[in-house]
Amino acid sequence: MGEKQDLKSLPRKELIKWFEQHNFTGFRAKQVFNWLFKNGVDHFAEMTNLPAGLRDKIAEKAFIYRLSCQESSKATDGTIKYLWLLSDHELIESVYLPGEQGRNTVCISSQVGCMLNCRFCATGSGGLVRNLTSGEIVDQVLKMQAEISQEGFGEPRISNVVLMGMGEPLANLEHVLAAVEIINDRAGLNIGMRKITISTSGLVPGIRTLAERDLQLVLAISLNAPNNQLRSYLMPINQKYPLEELLAASRYYIKKTGRRITFEYVLIKDVNESVQLARATASLLQGILCNVNLIPLNSVNDFKLKKPDRKRINRFKEILEEQGIETTIRQERGSKIEAACGQLRRLKQ
Ligand code: SF4
Repeated sequence: MGEKQDLKSLPRKELIKWFEQHNFTGFRAKQVFNWLFKNGVDHFAEMTNLPAGLRDKIAEKAFIYRLSCQESSKATDGTIKYLWLLSDHELIESVYLPGEQGRNTVCISSQVGCMLNCRFCATGSGGLVRNLTSGEIVDQVLKMQAEISQEGFGEPRISNVVLMGMGEPLANLEHVLAAVEIINDRAGLNIGMRKITISTSGLVPGIRTLAERDLQLVLAISLNAPNNQLRSYLMPINQKYPLEELLAASRYYIKKTGRRITFEYVLIKDVNESVQLARATASLLQGILCNVNLIPLNSVNDFKLKKPDRKRINRFKEILEEQGIETTIRQERGSKIEAACGQLRRLKQ
């Protein structure tokens, strides 16, 4: 594509600026934005309210990024896992999770691979390949919206977006925030900021930057252990940003935004699910405006780690709740189709 600009990577204001810099009008930029993000159109030829000559001129300077679907598989509960092929032949994954009362969630990736090497994760075990562009991030949502629409680019609609697929979103913050702006834009996909979740392993500088931006999105932090020794074992990033710094950044985020934080806790049999650790987690989070989301481990075939039995999971939840911490257990979905992040791509390598 050479020096050409990917139009799918630009939030509306940037798109208007780019059009004006190239002697097209802002009015045409708005039309193009509408085609791309409200109608899911991928080709200039389909933008029928733009004169053909103008479309050709734009196409000389710009292109429209398109993921192609390499594979998809549907679980009996309706969860669909997608494996996307990028233009440099890398692969990324996304998951569509249909829900009750129009709550349809997509979980999308922010990087090819990941450098953080969390012990329980299939993506991290392969290392980082590269950051995704904002166009590649947004197009996961656009392509899934097109796939699930019964007609054109319509119902059912994707209502929630979670950046919890492959990669660490805060390690690719600039592209992630541009993608979030596009996904949220009323003139485009129009998904409310409060329906967008960024999930981080705990990159402290990124949490502080997000706090400064004061967005109304949901910040989820992967906690997984209430002490530094165990957390560093499960998540090597804890050596760089230990719990004290992570919690200080969390408090700063809450103060700046007035929003509560979701702490995620992946429960792993005989590793981090004891009664003592539940109590320690409850006391660690005392006084912090938060809720906890317990995630029974989605076992990766050749890892030794397993999920605890249901009784242990429920006990962990009860202990947190006894200490006044709102706690939910994530419904396990799509495990038969390798729906945990990075598993499908891993099988293809
Ligand atoms: S859990 Fe997330 S941050 Fe950790 S290695 Fe996997 S993709 Fe990276």
